[in-house]
Amino acid sequence: HAKSAGRNQYALYDDDMGRVIRRRNLIERRLKGASKRNEFTLEYQPLVSGEDLELVGYEALMRLRLRDGTPISPGEFIPIAEEIGLIDDIGAWVLQEATRTVADLPGTPKVAINLSVAQFRSGRLPELVADALSASGLPADRLELEITESLLLDDDTTIGFQIDALQDMGVWIAMDDFGTGFSSLGYLWKYGFDRIKIDRSFVAGLSDNPERSLEIIETVIMLGRRLGIEVTAEGVETKAQCEMLSKLGCDVLQGFLFGAPAPIADPTESPDGEATSA
Ligand code: C2E
Ligand code: MG
Ligand code: MG
Ligand code: MG
Repeated sequence: HAKSAGRNQYALYDDDMGRVIRRRNLIERRLKGASKRNEFTLEYQPLVSGEDLELVGYEALMRLRLRDGTPISPGEFIPIAEEIGLIDDIGAWVLQEATRTVADLPGTPKVAINLSVAQFRSGRLPELVADALSASGLPADRLELEITESLLLDDDTTIGFQIDALQDMGVWIAMDDFGTGFSSLGYLWKYGFDRIKIDRSFVAGLSDNPERSLEIIETVIMLGRRLGIEVTAEGVETKAQCEMLSKLGCDVLQGFLFGAPAPIADPTESPDGEATSA
């Protein structure tokens, strides 16, 4: 009995492993193809002022589809892009595309771009950002770079120097998913962030466990105020959450309540999607 049970266990294990490996290979192949043929796209999610709910900017979010049209979430493909060494190329494209798109919009919206910690490894990030800004004409103070707290684990001193260089240019640096990592306060102290983005799990908590979540969020907003750091709340989905966050003095709100990530129409394309010939 033990023997056959063991065999079944291995069969199950092999089957799962096989599935995981096939999926991993599929995405790896797709990433390489998309990178060669420039098939990534960006969607933009509105960021609104906590004071009057007016639009203040957008967060750019990367999108990729399998050949059959099925979307792959960035949470799945970005770690693989990092592993196979594609994140520098893809990340540079995101910087150029997002700055160009938002520079062309009316008004003075900001654009927030997510960075992978791997993009700090070459040491060339400040240079890449400066290039994207001058090519697009976007003023530096309208660009914000988001770093996920839980990814800051590898303690690399060059990250600090590059963050300083970017801030000297006028670019804002945000700590994304605040509260989900191991050392939120440690990183706030170590790197001078300009913005804290409270992770959406705390905002969801406003509905599930209101007293406790209110206290935590209020404390983060107070902390931000004391340190001169702006605070954004992610994942705002209900009017009740929005009202509570506004009342607490949260600077910026983001979530499905104000708009899901969506493409921004390219002004060089006609409404039916075909490029206009000059
Ligand atoms: P993130 O930076 O925390 O982005 C916010 C995520 O929350 C997005 O998921 C967005 O679609 C989702 N979201 C926004 N509002 C709501 C809401 O009200 N409710 C809920 N439930 N979700 C909401 P998405 O687009 O799947 O991106 C996942 C993560 O992938 C991002 O998390 C970011 O860490 C990473 N990512 C996305 N684009 C890029 C990129 O260009 N470069 C890098 N390095 N990472 C990226
Ligand atoms: Mg983000
Ligand atoms: Mg986030
Ligand atoms: Mg998040």
